[in-house]
Amino acid sequence: RAKTSGRNRVEMFDDALRERALTRLRLESDLRHAVEGRQFRLFYQPIVRLSDGSVAGFEALMRWFHPQRGMIPPSDFVHLAEETGLILKMGRWALVEATRQLAEWQGRFSPDLFMSVNVSGRQLMEDDLVAVVTETLDAHRITPGTLKLEITESLLLDDPGRCLGIMEALKRQDVKLSLDDFGTGFSSLSYLHRYPIGTLKIDRSFVRAAGESDRRSAIARIITLLAQALDLEVIAEGIEKETEADFLRGLHCQFGQGFYFSPPLPKEAVEELMDARSREREALAGLSALRG
Ligand code: C2E
Ligand code: MG
Ligand code: MG
Ligand code: MG
Repeated sequence: RAKTSGRNRVEMFDDALRERALTRLRLESDLRHAVEGRQFRLFYQPIVRLSDGSVAGFEALMRWFHPQRGMIPPSDFVHLAEETGLILKMGRWALVEATRQLAEWQGRFSPDLFMSVNVSGRQLMEDDLVAVVTETLDAHRITPGTLKLEITESLLLDDPGRCLGIMEALKRQDVKLSLDDFGTGFSSLSYLHRYPIGTLKIDRSFVRAAGESDRRSAIARIITLLAQALDLEVIAEGIEKETEADFLRGLHCQFGQGFYFSPPLPKEAVEELMDARSREREALAGLSALRG
């Protein structure tokens, strides 16, 4: 009897494993099709100047529109894409598409707008990123210095020498580098002066309830001070509330990003927002001209 139930358990275990493996295989094969079939789109989240709320630039965020499952967020596929190496093709596409979009919006709205694109570890270390960037910048004319790449701290630890070489080559192309999710990785602050990093992005876990919880807001405050001391730009991620925005503005944190200002939007919605903003500005200018 014990034997039978033992065997049943083994079979159940096998079934669960098989099911998991199948699900993964299906997702992997779907992902391959998605790369061929252009099922990805970029959404753009505005990054605003905290001083006056104006839009300074955008972060490009990938979305997968699966023909059966609908929109799938990056948390459900980026990991698999990295494991399978599909991220290289996807990342290249995202870089070109975001740069093309930036060129268009700089012409239509403002030449100072910037675009920030997430780059995975494999992409930075394995793809010929410098060549891809060079080609992209040749194909799409943007204001120098307005393309930014977001990398995470952990990436810097893998192969520091090689990483530094790539980062310096990117810098020569006038491409800026941001450290994403800053404060959550294995921080050795020494890399902040060793690597050509231009921006720190304060992770949203430190922004959440900033101004309410003392310990968290202490971290947001110290990262802002650190950025100011090192002459780096600083962006607070994941601002959801007015109190959080106020607190960070009080610290003279330059930029903010989060649902409080805007969620990531499809391109058409960004254009509506930018048009509405410029109509507002014109109306205000007209009003003050009337008043003399
Ligand atoms: P991330 O680069 O840290 O991007 C910020 C994430 O925070 C985005 O999630 C964004 O939608 C979300 N977010 C923004 N404001 C708020 C807020 O106020 N509250 C909350 N709770 N969340 C907010 P998303 O778009 O789901 O992307 C998740 C992660 O996937 C990104 O984190 C990034 O690491 C990765 N990812 C996205 N697009 C790409 C890509 O094109 N390439 C690579 N390699 N990774 C990407
Ligand atoms: Mg990012
Ligand atoms: Mg982030
Ligand atoms: Mg994050």
